[in-house]
Amino acid sequence: MRLEKVREFLASKGLDGLLVIQPENRRYLSGFTGSYGLLLITPDSAYIATDFRYYEQVERECPGFTLVKVEKDFADVLPKLLEETGVKTLGFESFYLTVEEYRKWRKAARKVKLVPCQDIVGEIRSVKTPEEIQAIRKAVALADEAFSHICQVLRPGMSEKEAAWEIESFMRTHGAEKVAFDLILASGPNGALPHARASDKPIKEGEPIVIDIGCVVGGYCSDLTRTVVLGKPDERFSEIYSLVLKAQEKAERAIKAGMRARKADSIARKVIEKAGYGPQFGHGLGHGVGMAVHEKPRVGKLSKDTLQAGNVITVEPGIYISGWGGVRLEDIVVVQDEGVEILTRSPKGLKSAIL
Ligand code: ZN
Ligand code: ZN
Repeated sequence: MRLEKVREFLASKGLDGLLVIQPENRRYLSGFTGSYGLLLITPDSAYIATDFRYYEQVERECPGFTLVKVEKDFADVLPKLLEETGVKTLGFESFYLTVEEYRKWRKAARKVKLVPCQDIVGEIRSVKTPEEIQAIRKAVALADEAFSHICQVLRPGMSEKEAAWEIESFMRTHGAEKVAFDLILASGPNGALPHARASDKPIKEGEPIVIDIGCVVGGYCSDLTRTVVLGKPDERFSEIYSLVLKAQEKAERAIKAGMRARKADSIARKVIEKAGYGPQFGHGLGHGVGMAVHEKPRVGKLSKDTLQAGNVITVEPGIYISGWGGVRLEDIVVVQDEGVEILTRSPKGLKSAIL
């Protein structure tokens, strides 16, 4: 099925083959979980080229793929492979290939026309099957559990790094392969930077704490943000928090298949702009989530994507105030024909944010 879609693309572009090197794309098409490998997909064959570390693994993980043994460099085996398959026009993932590799391939495949291609496999990946949604559900549920755990153990005086490690170790000991990204735990003024990492700063009572976490389960990612306060928050917190929540809920109620992604962004953005905080919401509303934590579709002001049933995206408005901090709320939703299914279960009412 997945390979069929690639083959439809080949036919539509008049290509004899596509070389796939981007790691998630490679795993998506072949099942291969190793760190080095290239796929060649042609209309009637599929090859995986890798080195001796993975020969056995390929046999196990990639039924239907023919193994090509690479001893030194893929460019060494490329001429023979092209001759064997009769490929004359070869597509490659131009957004991912290094100039160095391109130069080597160019030299090794002089008679073949190399055609730069957009991320077609990423495009195919953006619409999830029910099995993939099930896998994402597991990763989301574990992030929810980890969030609930940190809410119970978070104390004033704990450093951001300690709290982040508490979350990470919870995830790792409860079924995660790894964290999906460097976990973000940003308290007080640190929360004003949307991508702050955890620092040595001790967490204080009364300041907003942005907790943005995710894990990988069975090859699929989750991505969850909640903002909480230990003890009594200031008035500004209630105002900003309620606004971000309103923006998120409005977008979640409106999003459905067929909507332009930038329209979804603008629904949330308008709520925040109307209240005068437009410039403080400096990032897009969300992004696709799957084997990679950031993938297609893009959900922002400049996105050209249209939402499709089966897209799994985040909805994560935020407001960031320099010197004070930030509030961000992030859910993962499945886009459906008539609306969305919200996979994230962590509570998000204002009351639940005050620990
Ligand atoms: Zn996130
Ligand atoms: Zn996100």
